Amino acid sequence: MSSNEPVLSFNPPMRVLMGPGPSDVPARVLSAMARPTIGHLDPAFIGLMDQIKALLQYAFRTNNALTMPISGPGSAGMEACFVNLVEPGDTVIVCVNGVFGGRMKENVERCGATAIVVADDWGTPVDPAKVDAALKANPGAKAVAFVHAETSTGVASDAATLCNLAREHGALSIVDAVTSLGGIPVLADEWGADAVYSGTQKCLSCTPGLSPLTFSERAVEVVQSRKTKTQSWFLDFNLLLGYWGGNAKRAYHHTAPVNALYGLHESLVMLHEEGLEAAWARHAKMHEALKAGLEAMGLSFLVAPEHRLPQLNAVNVPAGIDEALVRAHLLERYGLEIGAGLGALAGKVWRIGLMGASATPNHVTLCLTALETVLAELGATVAVGKALPAAAKVLWG
Ligand SMILES: *Cc1c(COP(=O)(O)O)cnc(C)c1O
Repeated sequence: MSSNEPVLSFNPPMRVLMGPGPSDVPARVLSAMARPTIGHLDPAFIGLMDQIKALLQYAFRTNNALTMPISGPGSAGMEACFVNLVEPGDTVIVCVNGVFGGRMKENVERCGATAIVVADDWGTPVDPAKVDAALKANPGAKAVAFVHAETSTGVASDAATLCNLAREHGALSIVDAVTSLGGIPVLADEWGADAVYSGTQKCLSCTPGLSPLTFSERAVEVVQSRKTKTQSWFLDFNLLLGYWGGNAKRAYHHTAPVNALYGLHESLVMLHEEGLEAAWARHAKMHEALKAGLEAMGLSFLVAPEHRLPQLNAVNVPAGIDEALVRAHLLERYGLEIGAGLGALAGKVWRIGLMGASATPNHVTLCLTALETVLAELGATVAVGKALPAAAKVLWG
């Protein structure tokens, strides 16, 4: 530190978060996190853990006993699935139609296994026919891994069909539901999914840093009958289960992020109060309103309507417009964050999130107003004055 620089508390600017996550965190969640820290083996805390487990079972639509938050972000949940289920020498079918599928492949290879990649174009869903063919060509494949809601492109894949295909071929299914949980149906038991992981900062509208996860009984058996020890001590479920396993005697494994779990609990209580179906319906409606406004303005979507995620809208950047300058203006003038395109889509799309507490009429209205004003100023050919009435019609009839 230079000697004349004052050392002050950090006070972040007020933002409206409509990117690919984090989403806006409600004051209720933030204030829950400010409650007194207690010991993570305190009987009161154990009671909280039991409630979090029950609420996560509600959110994932599952009765799986192994349902818990991993102490780490969504990427830690992803890694937990692979290091526990995949052993050296295994073969895993990995569906790649965006950034996060690519990370799954990386995880498989770091487990010493072979990844058979089923590739689909960015902006399109995973093609079940290709997955079926890959399973037929690779008998004995250990698992099929795919991303339910590709946040890099705004595409939903057919999780029910993909989990079913895996099961028919005797393979496990590993599902990334980081962006889907709480925003669109995630039906772990109905799908027969074996391992599903999520994140807290997308449609659950909690702070980043935890990864809710659920494993089927079949998946737990696979973990318990491993031939080799998992290379990760921290994420080894055979050890972690002593802490989260549900038996009365909780053994110390690592210090749970106590206050972060207060926040997750509060966000799950809010989801339960609203009701899962109502939350799904709200996300769908806000998407319809945003879409009506964007299209009235003259903007278009990357993804075909039937495969779009309501909570992540990939919008084509109009020709000749500097997309980064638009985002900079939105942030500076309106405190509004939207996302840039990733990887193959960098510079080509914006990613507008309508996740959790950021899926409200006010968010839609601010985003349309701000985007229209900035685009018109920069000389884009957008229809002015049409977006808000179109969105209002969807919102209020
Ligand atoms: C955000 C995201 C992740 C990674 O989550 P982190 O909390 O950033 O580690 C993984 N998969 C998908 C689909 C995501 O959107």
